[in-house]
Amino acid sequence: MDLILVATSSTSEHQTSMNVPKLNDSSLLKAKNYIDGKWVDGGAGTIEIDNPATSEDIITIANGNAADAITAVEAANTAFKSWSKTTAKDRSVLLRKWFNLMQEHANDLGAIMTAEQGKPLAEAVAEVQYGAGFIEYYAEECKRSMGNTIPTIAADRRLQTYKQAVGVVGCITPWNFPNAMIARKAGPALAAGCTIVIKPATETPLSALALCELADRAGIPPGVINVVVGTNSKDIGLVLTQHKAIAKFTFTGSTPVGKILMTQCATTVKKISLELGGNAPFIVFDDADLEAAVNDCIATKFRNCGQTCVCTNRIYVQSSVAKEFTAKLKLAIEQLQVGNGFAEDTIIGPLVSDSAVKEMEVLMNDAVKQGAEVLVGGNRHELGHTFFEPTLINNVSPAMKLANEEIFGPIAAVQEFETEEEVTTRANDTEYGLAAYFFTRDVGRVMRMSENLDYGIVCSNSGVFSTEVAPFGGWKQSGIGSEGGKEGIEEYYETKFHSMGGILT
Ligand code: ADP
Repeated sequence: MDLILVATSSTSEHQTSMNVPKLNDSSLLKAKNYIDGKWVDGGAGTIEIDNPATSEDIITIANGNAADAITAVEAANTAFKSWSKTTAKDRSVLLRKWFNLMQEHANDLGAIMTAEQGKPLAEAVAEVQYGAGFIEYYAEECKRSMGNTIPTIAADRRLQTYKQAVGVVGCITPWNFPNAMIARKAGPALAAGCTIVIKPATETPLSALALCELADRAGIPPGVINVVVGTNSKDIGLVLTQHKAIAKFTFTGSTPVGKILMTQCATTVKKISLELGGNAPFIVFDDADLEAAVNDCIATKFRNCGQTCVCTNRIYVQSSVAKEFTAKLKLAIEQLQVGNGFAEDTIIGPLVSDSAVKEMEVLMNDAVKQGAEVLVGGNRHELGHTFFEPTLINNVSPAMKLANEEIFGPIAAVQEFETEEEVTTRANDTEYGLAAYFFTRDVGRVMRMSENLDYGIVCSNSGVFSTEVAPFGGWKQSGIGSEGGKEGIEEYYETKFHSMGGILT
């Protein structure tokens, strides 16, 4: 491994070891909770954070608990009183500084992410830039959050609406995008005038803490952003979903956990937004540009080793081109280089954990037992640890587990179809409704498919769509609300209607 930095660090932040290759600014590697602008110990001792590619410990960090979360919520509540009264312009200036620091330190933030999460370094740096985009966008957008003047209903009355920050935000994020899933919540929340308490995934706290260090350097006041890390997700989750000082809860993760958290939020009727699971169809019609379809199928299926909620899950190919498409896809998959995310030529990193590898084996066994044919891969990779072979299977049927569940790994599963009507029905036959992809050159079909697919995001003739300027959100059991675009900041405002009487007296 290309080890540029191995150091023993100060005890003041519980850092007992560091193992992040290619890190220039080691003060970005933090090991404590960030509460009220201070780095503080966790109430539940310490834990090790390890590198999924090597199984080596990266660092020992604080293990936060419910009491830490309560302290953080109280700090955020106090900070809200002043932060919500700042002008949009003032918040914009600070967020812009934060954005600039993220850009400046993108390579370091990427290295920290690759060490804790495994994705290839170039992909990690791209995620940092994508995440930073949300901070920049909402630094601009908050200056344009306007209310309305409504035509009056009586001579002595005036009617207006305006927007106010919803309050303290509780936030739980997953490990697959350790930076961007935080940035796209914290960006609009802070821009709107909210303060936030974040519980990052147990596996990937270091990216979150590095963002706090940069927020501190940018001059974002104490208590405005707080992060509690560690293994006590359930206890901390209870605080973030039930504490009465929290006005809004936002979560990105699986649908089953989202349902639990939604239920917990009901006790105090919190405003909620949820970005949950997906089961994305990728549909290839017989008039498609097959080269482009294969290229983008690789991008959307194998990005982050297949571990995203918008990754292609079910590949549907019209039967007349199925052989040709599958052959091309096989060739492309065979070229995917598997390895440590720090190696220059790596395209596919490790899965996040051993249990994720076991899940791939469960899905493969089930598919093969039900008649799937393995064309490439199908097993643990010879690199060991949490590596799994990029895999292609066909003869996939709707009854197989991997046709119904999020695969969340590097298995491409091909099914065939005959007609547009049939594939639309099959693509919609799922409880999920996040992202859907299709390839066709028929412009009428582009519009019909776009309208007929029951998904929050439809992507024609492309497998890549994520951007801070457009709304990202799921239909059905894929979630509630949107992140990104002008819609994203609305999640952090309440609308107030002011009915003003006595105008003529
Ligand atoms: P993933 O498959 O991405 O791990 P999860 O929904 O299991 O999806 O986890 C997403 C986030 O939710 C992680 O930060 C995890 O620690 C947290 N989490 C999981 N279960 C709970 C729970 N019961 N209460 C609060 N947070 C939870």
